[in-house]
Amino acid sequence: MILLNGWDRCPCDVEPSQERSGPERGWGATTPRVVGRMGLFKSKLPKTGRPLRPKEKEMLKSPLIIFVMGGPGCGKGTQCKNMATKYGFCHVGLGQLLRQEAQRGTRRGQKIREIMLRGLLVPTGIILDMINDKMLSCPESRGFLIDGFPRELIQAKEFERIVGRPPDVVMVFDCSMETMVRRALHRGQVEHRGDDCEPAILQRLETHYTLCEPVFTFYQQKNLLRNILAEEAPENIFAKCCSVIESLQRLEGVGG
Ligand code: ADP
Repeated sequence: MILLNGWDRCPCDVEPSQERSGPERGWGATTPRVVGRMGLFKSKLPKTGRPLRPKEKEMLKSPLIIFVMGGPGCGKGTQCKNMATKYGFCHVGLGQLLRQEAQRGTRRGQKIREIMLRGLLVPTGIILDMINDKMLSCPESRGFLIDGFPRELIQAKEFERIVGRPPDVVMVFDCSMETMVRRALHRGQVEHRGDDCEPAILQRLETHYTLCEPVFTFYQQKNLLRNILAEEAPENIFAKCCSVIESLQRLEGVGG
């Protein structure tokens, strides 16, 4: 699939002068800037999500909520699609939702696109609103697979503050750096994804290794973390995902 709107172009193809041409592109003072290390951005995009109404919180009380974490190319997107099909869950794929938003051509979309092409994190407010809007648009769903979340501790805490509950489980796809780079580079060639080129992949890896670590500790302490070794064949990895879900479904008393 060829993605339009410059998605097929790696940020390393962009001349430095073009990259910094904020005012000409109408970005002006709101052009996001990298602040220091670890994939964080300073921008005027919202840092907190909109609060939910009591009725909305009530709707999200009972369905299963599964967070799926892992570095670029670890295979979480593929497995989430399979799990969503098998169990009738709603797949909330953040990368995919953000790419749709980035293609809109709005100022917000342009900013998101720039952040993603650099392999940095989109501000938390946008992420939480996207997740909540998507979940609330599927009121009949008995489960949600939130793929690519949380990527930093503040996201985990904001989710609990806004939605009013933690997830039921957090799956972490564990993969070596070599495997992730190889898979992501291959995907970049096949799908022409602009953020699957070497500089952006390396930035995403750095973000993953630095910002996700405290998130793992946070959920480990709550006994919610489930490690999935993701080096094997896709069907073996899928079997492990299913056993995590099924142990949970037994707990929750929900049919498979
Ligand atoms: P991958 O997980 O392979 O890096 P995704 O398609 O899931 O790919 O995400 C692509 C990009 O979308 C990330 O590099 C980041 O810029 C953005 N993104 C996705 N999820 C989040 C999140 N939870 N918080 C902030 N940014 C995110």
